[in-house]
Amino acid sequence: NPAALVQALFNLGEMVTATASVADETLELLGSEMNYVVQVVSPEDEDRELLDSFDLTFGEDAGTDEDLEQRPPVVTVMGHVDHGKTRLLDTIRKANVGEGEAGGITQHIGAYQVETHLEGNDRVITFIDTPGHEAFTAMRARGAQATDIAIIVVAADDGVMPQTVEAINHAQAAEVPIVVAVNKIDKEGADPAKIRGQMTEYGLIPEEYGGDSMFVDISAKQGLNIDELLEAVLLTADASLDLRANPHMDAQGVAIEAHLDRGRGPVATVLIKRGTLRVGDSIVAGDAYGRVRRMVDENGDDVAEALPSRPVQVVGFTSVPGAGDNLLVVDEDRVARQIADKRNARKRNALAARGRKRISLEDLDSALKEHSQLNLIIKGDNSGTVEALEEALLGIEIDDEVQLRVIDRGVGAVTETNVNLAAASDAVILGFNVRAEGKATELANREGVDIRYYSVIYQAIDEIESALKGMLKPVY
Ligand code: GDP
Repeated sequence: NPAALVQALFNLGEMVTATASVADETLELLGSEMNYVVQVVSPEDEDRELLDSFDLTFGEDAGTDEDLEQRPPVVTVMGHVDHGKTRLLDTIRKANVGEGEAGGITQHIGAYQVETHLEGNDRVITFIDTPGHEAFTAMRARGAQATDIAIIVVAADDGVMPQTVEAINHAQAAEVPIVVAVNKIDKEGADPAKIRGQMTEYGLIPEEYGGDSMFVDISAKQGLNIDELLEAVLLTADASLDLRANPHMDAQGVAIEAHLDRGRGPVATVLIKRGTLRVGDSIVAGDAYGRVRRMVDENGDDVAEALPSRPVQVVGFTSVPGAGDNLLVVDEDRVARQIADKRNARKRNALAARGRKRISLEDLDSALKEHSQLNLIIKGDNSGTVEALEEALLGIEIDDEVQLRVIDRGVGAVTETNVNLAAASDAVILGFNVRAEGKATELANREGVDIRYYSVIYQAIDEIESALKGMLKPVY
């Protein structure tokens, strides 16, 4: 019971209350103290196991070194608000729209590719079309690392600002190399040298000062030095990254944007990480699945095959995947569906456990404001103790605004039926010298039903009494 756990934790040197969160390591320690093996399973581990059961793995290139081929770098533009991120992305894109396509329909699908022709070398760069570090970090929080290189934009007339620093921190935390674009050099008061000095404080030392960060002075507005910036991106990629992927395998990628389109149903922009995605492939992304019916690029053109680092908008999902969800091609529609269903069930369970947290003695204080009644279900080892407990509980003196009601009582273990009733009527279950059946515990966890165990009557009375007074004191 919670009091015993709090006591055990105290013995381990952790002062906590019954509702406190503790670190994974503390849980493991607590487990071994009480002769249990506590295994902390992350959602990632769980998903790995799920894929494993279908003989699938996400995140590794199949084959040998010879199967690996160069892929374009994927770039995210970050920096302080108004320093020119959006303008830069527009300028890069417009500068690279071919003659034939000029004036054609461009679509915002969340990412685009540009071709560069620097020094006779034709290379491609992929840009994530959502500026800022929020999207970058949200994706990373979901375990998806889509970006290879970050361009950090700093306005030369403004200097390093809070979001500049945040962007640097986020990129560095993700171990993504940074190229600094010193923007707005066309403006009066622009001081690129000052920016270099400021950035040094964050570990970004310009090459010309003997460091290893590339700084490029640009004007997104006038289109100045854009080629130089792209070149710096490629040089940085070549110097510090091994950008190779195996295109000869079933595709894997990450959904970077998704929505429900009126005409086409669920659409998702997928960035291919490895393999080749083809029309007709069975796919699963997060808890969405389907079959690739159509792929469209940023110019609205149909694509039959998408290679690594290529962003494509995919039509054919039966529901909308989430941004940051991993996409996987599988052999059969059936497998895609099964994986999606399993993930979906897990998500529902997690939501249920979190969202449907019912009344518990610890948060009774706030709960009573809504309910003004505490419902109890009493289970005990014999009818005598159940009666005694009920009587004693009903004798607790409480203020007029709160009512205590015993809605059910009985002899024997706590059952699923008890838990269901507790869930339906927001009751707390008291078990006196009895335990809960395994399934009942599971259900209670899922439904957020509080079950309390006692073996001494006054302890039960004490706890209910203090809970009703709004103060269930932590026990040490
Ligand atoms: P974001 O918030 O970082 O995406 O910034 P925007 O791209 O929206 O740019 C903010 C403002 O600065 C807009 O009015 C842009 O036109 C302007 N701007 C962006 N780049 C330059 C530049 O190189 N020179 C000048 N003079 N203005 C720029």
